[in-house]
Amino acid sequence: MTWSQWQVPPFVSSIFFILGVFTLYWVTLNWIDTWVHRHAFNVTDDVINEWYGVIYMLAFVFSMQTPILGSANGWEFMNFQLLAVIFCSYFLNIHLVYYLFPPIVLAYMFFNGSFGYWQSWGYAVTLVAFFMTMNWIRRRFHGQRFAWAIYMGVGIPFGGVLWVWMKFKFNFSWTTMQQQWLYLIIFEALLYAYVNMITHDGELKVRLARLASHDTLTAAGNFSAYTESARTQFVASLKTGQPLAMVMFDIDHFKQVNDTYGHSAGDAVLQQVAATVSKVLAKTDPEIKLYRTGGEEFNILCPGYDVAAASALATDIFEAINQLTVHTAAQDIRVTLSIGVSAVVTTDKSPMDFYNRVDRNLYYSKQHGRHQITVA
Ligand code: GH3
Ligand code: MG
Ligand code: MG
Repeated sequence: MTWSQWQVPPFVSSIFFILGVFTLYWVTLNWIDTWVHRHAFNVTDDVINEWYGVIYMLAFVFSMQTPILGSANGWEFMNFQLLAVIFCSYFLNIHLVYYLFPPIVLAYMFFNGSFGYWQSWGYAVTLVAFFMTMNWIRRRFHGQRFAWAIYMGVGIPFGGVLWVWMKFKFNFSWTTMQQQWLYLIIFEALLYAYVNMITHDGELKVRLARLASHDTLTAAGNFSAYTESARTQFVASLKTGQPLAMVMFDIDHFKQVNDTYGHSAGDAVLQQVAATVSKVLAKTDPEIKLYRTGGEEFNILCPGYDVAAASALATDIFEAINQLTVHTAAQDIRVTLSIGVSAVVTTDKSPMDFYNRVDRNLYYSKQHGRHQITVA
């Protein structure tokens, strides 16, 4: 690869350049997200995405514009700047309050030395309208089948008007204006396709992560998610001195349900028991999660709960299942629970010590006639 052989037309290299700029954005954003989560800062991904998006795109626009400031071809990178605007307004859907527009526009015009040009004022007003329209169509039509057509339907005419302002400011030919406009249209379409591909990739990861940590039948957390939470919450409890309790329950005579009504009736019972318990948890404390740790055995970790608070929760769950009737095609089925409750004590060396005590309490409930709660 030598300088003389490397003669790619500017249009082609700019496609790779612009895709590279966005790829770098996502890679670095992921890195920041992971870093922020590892340090347990209290910010949501959306906030990081918006702030980082604005800073990144501003840095990109200003640094590209600096070398050509005030020159006769000050318009050369305008398409890149418009793509940055589209990215923030449409794809990140950053909502700027209206009074933020004047200072941003004035700062950019000052930087560009374009206060004296009426065309630049026209350009600035069009750009703000473009930003707000892109914002609006994103909210209004996102996820609909023709969203891309609306996106192009707004992007194409706005791009045309913006390039007309610049044609008058810099006095280049109509042919150049049309060519740049056409490039912009192609870039807009490419950006849409590219962002969609990347977002699909992200959605796939979220789905896979959910599949890996949840039980498909009951939608409760699975055993691996339980083990991970038990470990981190146990360590946190030892470190902070905050109490940590566990409620563990098992459906009584569940084998009989399967044997009498069939396996799919058994599945329906498992689903409804999990749904009923989840409803109790959501009402009590949305932070508490339900895990399915065995066939018809479930676990609930209660950070911040002592034994008394956890047994109150266990009683609510116990009562809710007493009230539950599972309607299946063949039969109405009622089940009961045996429950064990305990909390972390200072002599616990590992989450297993804690778990074993809860398990012993559950076993005690089973041994003493089932359908009861044992707390110790
Ligand atoms: P106990 O009161 O002592 O808990 O008796 P039990 O019958 O509930 O307990 P046992 O451990 O003897 O039986 C549990 C049954 O749960 C056996 C197994 O076939 C059934 N089971 C486990 N997972 C599933 C599932 O996903 N769907 C259905 N339908 N049954 C399941
Ligand atoms: Mg059972
Ligand atoms: Mg069991």
